[in-house]
This record gives sequence, C-alpha cells and structure tokens, in this order.
Amino acid sequence: MAPRGASETGDPLLLTPGPLTTSAAVKQAMVHDWGSRDAEFIRINKMVLDSIVHLAGAEGTHVTVPVQGSGTFAVEAMITTFVPRTGKLLVLINGAYGQRAKKIAEIAGRVVVTHETPEDTPPDLAAIEKLLAGDKAITHVFAVHCETTSGILNPIGEIAALVARQGRRLLVDSMSAFGAIEIDAHKVPYDALAASSNKCLEGVPGLGFVVCRKDALAQCKGNATTLVLDLHDQAEGFAKTGQYRFTPPIHVIVALGKAIEEHAAEGGVAGRGGRYRSNAKILIDGMRGMGFRTLLPDALQAPIIITFHMPTDPRFVFQRFYDGLKDRGYVIYPGKLTVADSFRMGCIGRLNSEHMNGALAAVREVLDEMRVSNGGPALAAE
Ligand SMILES: *Cc1c(COP(=O)(O)O)cnc(C)c1O
Repeated sequence: MAPRGASETGDPLLLTPGPLTTSAAVKQAMVHDWGSRDAEFIRINKMVLDSIVHLAGAEGTHVTVPVQGSGTFAVEAMITTFVPRTGKLLVLINGAYGQRAKKIAEIAGRVVVTHETPEDTPPDLAAIEKLLAGDKAITHVFAVHCETTSGILNPIGEIAALVARQGRRLLVDSMSAFGAIEIDAHKVPYDALAASSNKCLEGVPGLGFVVCRKDALAQCKGNATTLVLDLHDQAEGFAKTGQYRFTPPIHVIVALGKAIEEHAAEGGVAGRGGRYRSNAKILIDGMRGMGFRTLLPDALQAPIIITFHMPTDPRFVFQRFYDGLKDRGYVIYPGKLTVADSFRMGCIGRLNSEHMNGALAAVREVLDEMRVSNGGPALAAE
C-alpha cells in the first residue's frame, strides 16, 4: 500500500489550485479571539501588509491594500478601483481567470476589449503592441501571471515592458504565483497586483490584497463602483486609523501573519519557489514515467499546478481515479479546459517531496486497480 497522504493535522492533502493544505502552526494561530481595535491585532495586520510590500520588492513606492474575501474580491476591487468609469480595459485571456476579469469589468460597466489565445498558448506580444498602438482609448491592460486554468506561466515581464512602452497602465492577477515566483515591482512596472492569503503564501482563505503603486492609487478617488471594494477608500481608512472599514477576517489575518513567518523561515520567495519547483519536477517526472502527458511543454509550465491529458485507455474512469486518490489521502482537481480533456494536480501549499512521491505511489495503485497500465494516449496492451 502507498503511504496514506495526510497533512500535519491528519487531513487529506490538497493537490488543488486552492484552498490549499496549510501547516498545523498556521491553523493553531487561529484559536484566539481579538477585537478589531486590539493593539496586538493592529500590529499583526500592519506586519502582514508591510511584509507583502517587501515580498513584492515594492518598498517606498507601493502600499498593500487588503480586501475581505477570496482572491476574486481582490481582482474585482483592483479592476473597479483602478480603471475609471471612462477608461478602457484590454484583458489578456488564456484561461478562466482572464475570462473572469473580463466579466468583472463588463458588469462594472467598463469598456473592455480582449486579446485571447488558447489555454496552452501565451499571449502574442506583437499583436498586443499593435492593438495598443492602434487604439489610444485603451487606458489599462489586465494580465494573469500564472493562469491557473492550465498552469501556464505568462511572460509578465515582457507584457509589463510593452505596456509601459505604450504608455498604458498594467493590472496583474498574480494570485497563484505571488510568493513563489519572483515579480519585482521595480523591474516589472505595474499600477496594481492582486493576490490572496491562501495560495503561495500558505495562509487560510479569506483575505485578498492588492499591491498598489501609491501615485496611481492616489488618482483613483471616486472610480469605484461599489462601496466595499473601493481600495482608495480602504487605504484612506488605514492611513487615518490603521483599521478596516468593516469587520476584518481577524483569524485569517493572524494566520497569514504566521504563514508569512514560515515563508521567511523557508527563505522567502526563492525558498518557497524552490520547494514548489522540486514538487513539480517529482510530479511531472513520475507521471510521465507512468505514461501520462502534460498539456504544456516544460518551457511554459509554472511550478504551481500541472495539467495532464486524460488517459485514453477505456478502462480509465476519471471518477474512480479521483475517488481512489481521495481514499488514499490525495485530492486532485478536474480540468477546467476547453482545449483538452484533462485533470490537474497542484504542487503548492504545505506539500513536500514525500507527499509528491506518496501521491505518485497512490496514482500507480489506482491505475493498477483499474487495470490501466499506461496513463498516456496509447491503448494498454491486453
Ligand atoms: C485562485 C485564483 C484566483 C482567485 O480565486 P478565488 O477562488 O476567488 O480565491 C484568481 N486568479 C487566479 C489566477 C487564481 O489562481
């Protein structure tokens, strides 16, 4: 029998794009109550926000504005605060999160244009440059750093450089990359970057945040089309009182403080990214060894989540595969792709090489149970 997958607290391991497996210490940090005006809570919250600016390489120029809710709340806050009602947003799409940004902007009544490529294809930089040069009304560009739909790493540095060259402003969804894949605000210019507590920072879900260029944020007064997602107003509240305008998810923030301590102890972005790269390599090599094929070539693959083609052996039944892995303590994720029938396995969260090897052993066992000898496109020999 393969070793049973279990977190430090005995829960099944989440090989998913979130929520993710967290450490025992992060969960343990939540077994207290604090008032929202409690000095200790205000201190922890400030440490969290300052640490995020530090991780972004953005000290002095940027400020972290948190927003209660999941990552999408932060993306919606970013788009609706930064793009004025008279603005025009170009959304770069190669997956579900780009599509979601488009929907957010449309619901908020912003004028939207898109540049869309298939889920396994990075954006076409020359085409974007041409689009911007030909449409001076476009004020902002929205890009996803790691598109978690496929796990593709988009060329955010090159996108940022070209947006700057064209004199436009960049909004980045770095949700599934921030904290593990370097994005240095002083080398990659952006007005705002959104991420959340529960991806590569390994906190629990419930807090989104936006790293905002201070000069740009100062110009955003009155842009927001909702009260709760107004980052300008939220930032003013912090500047005046150090407090949230509305009830903060206190436990989530304190847990994030613990998670950020663990992130620093692991060696910051380089250390966290190193563990994820090692996890991804073990997973990809091991799955390929069983015949599975990745959707993406290695050059486009971020070490965050891996998309595998569905095996073609008729004895392979995804629901049995999923349930068999779940019974062994490993939770995987169905594909959400239009380009290929697929499933995904994540390598972020509190997961290490032992966990990845355990997951591979569990995959082998479940394939054997289904009498599937090869996870690839070729039919298994009788
Ligand atoms: C996880 C994720 C989000 C936010 O999703 P929530 O479910 O709202 O937390 C946004 N963008 C990307 C790229 C993501 O991976």
